[in-house]
Amino acid sequence: MSLPPLVEPAAGLSVDEVRRYSRHLIIPDVGMAGQKRLKNAKVLIVGAGGLGSPALLYLAAAGVGTLGIVDFDTVDESNLQRQIIHGISDVGKPKAQSAKESIAEINPYVTVVLHPERLDSSNVMEIFAGYDLIVDGTDNFATRYLVNDACVLLHKPYVWGSIYRFDGQASVFWADYGPCYRCLYPEPPPPGMVPSCAEGGVLGVLCASIGSIQVNEAIKLITGIGDPLAGRLMIYDALEMSYRTVRVNKDPECAVCGKNPTVTELIDYDAFCGAVSDEAAEAAADSTITATDLKGMLDRGDAIFLVDVREPNEYEIVSIPGATLIPKGEFLSGAALERLPQDKRVVLHCKTGVRSADCLAVVKNAGFSDAVHVGGGVLAWVSQVDPSLPSY
Ligand code: ZN
Repeated sequence: MSLPPLVEPAAGLSVDEVRRYSRHLIIPDVGMAGQKRLKNAKVLIVGAGGLGSPALLYLAAAGVGTLGIVDFDTVDESNLQRQIIHGISDVGKPKAQSAKESIAEINPYVTVVLHPERLDSSNVMEIFAGYDLIVDGTDNFATRYLVNDACVLLHKPYVWGSIYRFDGQASVFWADYGPCYRCLYPEPPPPGMVPSCAEGGVLGVLCASIGSIQVNEAIKLITGIGDPLAGRLMIYDALEMSYRTVRVNKDPECAVCGKNPTVTELIDYDAFCGAVSDEAAEAAADSTITATDLKGMLDRGDAIFLVDVREPNEYEIVSIPGATLIPKGEFLSGAALERLPQDKRVVLHCKTGVRSADCLAVVKNAGFSDAVHVGGGVLAWVSQVDPSLPSY
């Protein structure tokens, strides 16, 4: 399936621009017309992180005239393993600003527009309205459904990518011509079922593999060349070194792009995707302590049994002194319960407080009614109690 070019050509290219883009201009499929379309294009990248970094660098180098960046985060040392648009001197700086400076170094003909805010239902339509297409570099389901629905409602193409450990996926969702993200994934996975890259890790170079596919697709859509990934899902396995594509059909029953859509305006995406499961939220409601509370308990010598429910490799990176490692899987199987003492108060923690809330529900159901978990997990311990420890 080929599609008409998304963007009209700019009036012309300067002599400097002709020199800069000569390797594009001599490709017959791109040529002067294609490069002028790139110059006139306005592309929004959601997230200047793992996928956003290579995507922004290549979109800028390719001569996309306007790049918007949505990101409210700041650069952390642990980002540098894969977020190659940022450097050592950017640590602590807003990612959007850092990305803008890198782009200026690569291509001064690109106009960069910063949106240093969290994308949500209240601002997404206004931000997206100014762009021709959206490239998604985010790592969470709430934002993906938000971006998808906004793109469907605004009739804009959504270039999607996803990464985890050694596995990547990419596609183009454009409801006017094919399926949307909801046609492929009608429902978000249950909270806690799919680990994020922050929990499960990601091979740094995988970001480039998938981010470059996203740029490739953006360029094809803008210039109207080739067969876009619309209606196909690209699946990449870095360990096998295999790329394969599977067909994705438009779902006539799709909630947002189907024949009788039930989603005709934006919804509450945090509630739709559920940050934590209902059971976990209920268990944690009156049983969440802060990292500072935990420090007080340890200093006083309270009778507590501190359990770290993360994975062994995470425990190796950083752990709270005195914590016993019992990974979450052992709570879900029930095996962990016989390791918990009856005469001490059980205190659970994980990285950020999501997994420990799931385990807390299991522990409370088993009768440990005074058990608690640490809100914010070991990351809160590092930031509030012992900043000398590494965060990840
Ligand atoms: Zn759909």
